[in-house]
Amino acid sequence: MSSPGSGSETIKSIAVIGAGTMGHGIAQVAAASGFRVLLSDVDRESLARGVSAIEGNLARGIEKGKLTEADRDRTLQHIHGTTNLEECATGDLIIEAAPEKLELKKEVLRRLEEAADHPFIFASNTSSLSITEIAGSSKRPEAVIGMHFFNPVHVMRLVEIVVGERTSPETVQTVTNVGRRMRKEPIVVKDAPGFASSRLGVALGLEAMRMVEQGIASVQDIDTAMELGYNHPMGPLKLTDLVGLDVRLNIAEYLHRELGTETFKPPEVLRQMVSEGKLGKKTGEGFYDWSKEKDDARRAQSS
Ligand code: NAD
Repeated sequence: MSSPGSGSETIKSIAVIGAGTMGHGIAQVAAASGFRVLLSDVDRESLARGVSAIEGNLARGIEKGKLTEADRDRTLQHIHGTTNLEECATGDLIIEAAPEKLELKKEVLRRLEEAADHPFIFASNTSSLSITEIAGSSKRPEAVIGMHFFNPVHVMRLVEIVVGERTSPETVQTVTNVGRRMRKEPIVVKDAPGFASSRLGVALGLEAMRMVEQGIASVQDIDTAMELGYNHPMGPLKLTDLVGLDVRLNIAEYLHRELGTETFKPPEVLRQMVSEGKLGKKTGEGFYDWSKEKDDARRAQSS
């Protein structure tokens, strides 16, 4: 089979595997950019939830005056849903946003390759797995790549294009162009643990925690240093609270193991807080006290 050409104009249809947090957002931005989109999920209810999340995002866009009703209708018309994975093999570009399990992603790719009667590009939205390993048993590893979007996809502008050992330059060019058509800012990164974003973001967060341990400054003042001195929209400790301390600890352990540098050794304060169940905003306590926001959310839900 020959590869699709290198321009995004060769990509007319995009299939998105998984309609969860990331998949529905990817489907929305792809449809809004004029691609025909097939959104799939193994679970009918998750698919329906994904579609209604898109409708909600579009409705909020209209309320804020960022979208017209015609924009909304055009976007929704471009999206079709399915629970049949094999149907997605009709896509020119397949973006996989299924759960973060290597074997699952490889199995999805194998089934799509078996079902396809034309060449497609397979882009995984993995946040940590190796693209080279996902492509390991592929018949066309040159067409396997990472397209790492950020949550919420319709808001966040970055897309990391992750280049596996055997990914071809044409594939890199095509998905970079697709990313731009989706109005994202693509960066191209070698397939290495943490890619660019997590590696840098986690390094900053862990160093901030070590500074808290050493009593260098208060939590608030460390965040203010980055917010006002470096123009970061949010300090590294507040960001850790939003991401979840348990999530950050997992990534730190993974990067420490894979990269073997002390930079990623999880600080004791992080381990301690996770073991006490202080996981950040979701539990009401992390480096900051979020209990008021949690109570407000609970009241809003029950009213
Ligand atoms: P999620 O759990 O919200 O959604 C995954 C969806 O995939 C679920 O609806 C599930 O039913 C469906 N699914 C499971 N097996 C499937 C299969 N065989 N075929 C089709 N659908 C299947 O997960 P998510 O947070 O959207 O994460 C998806 C991927 O994106 C992961 O690889 C994750 O690491 C990555 N990612 C997540 C974030 C984030 O902030 N959540 C950010 C960047 C990247």
